[in-house]
Amino acid sequence: MNDIAHNLAQVRDKISAATMRCGRASEEVTLLAVSKTKPASAVAEAIAAGQRAFGENYVQEGVDKIRHFQDEGIAGLEWHFIGPLQSNKSRLVAEHFDWCHTVDRLRIASRLSEQRPAHLPPLNILIQINISDEESKSGIALSELDALADQVVALPGVRLRGLMAIPAPVSDFERQFAVAQQMAVAFDALKLRYPAVDTLSLGMTEDMDAAIAAGSTMVRIGTAIFGARDYTKN
Ligand SMILES: *Cc1c(COP(=O)(O)O)cnc(C)c1O
Repeated sequence: MNDIAHNLAQVRDKISAATMRCGRASEEVTLLAVSKTKPASAVAEAIAAGQRAFGENYVQEGVDKIRHFQDEGIAGLEWHFIGPLQSNKSRLVAEHFDWCHTVDRLRIASRLSEQRPAHLPPLNILIQINISDEESKSGIALSELDALADQVVALPGVRLRGLMAIPAPVSDFERQFAVAQQMAVAFDALKLRYPAVDTLSLGMTEDMDAAIAAGSTMVRIGTAIFGARDYTKN
């Protein structure tokens, strides 16, 4: 087994253990493999090990990988855009990705909806919440969620599937869980308003267990699968 296959198996075991501890089924949690900065060869190893859903943060890098695997004739992959999205890059996301996790204003949602090609199903979108209220982070406040959700569900080219957050890093489980639970409460309320909502994208390598205990349905894992990232090459 190569490193990536080995790491993937370990992460899947960790997800199973975390779901079991809180009485959830492991199928309730989707593993998104975050492949930003990693070469297509690393993604290919993950695909060979059975992984299908991948997260990318940089539009052009993601589109290059999507095209690469299309050219290779590999079907059944699911590509999630999880980085900050500027208006001038929205078309590439609408045309190539299956999901966008970082919608935080109506303008971006409208552009994605208009630019989504008619031959593709609506783009799955998540509204990003700035749950730790950090000035530097994108995302809206929970108090703004209902108003934005009401507007984006009316757009034909996108489908609101739920919420995403990147909590400020803290190391202890209790504090991670407290923040994750605030997201879970908002997610449950949104589900009641919109039955198509089924996805809470929450949890990374360092806070995955707490996110799952609180109710995350999608964890975004990079380092634990692909190893540390080297940004000096970019
Ligand atoms: C990079 C990134 C991840 C993966 O983080 P790891 O700590 O490497 O697991 C998850 N979500 C987002 C939004 C990211 O940018």
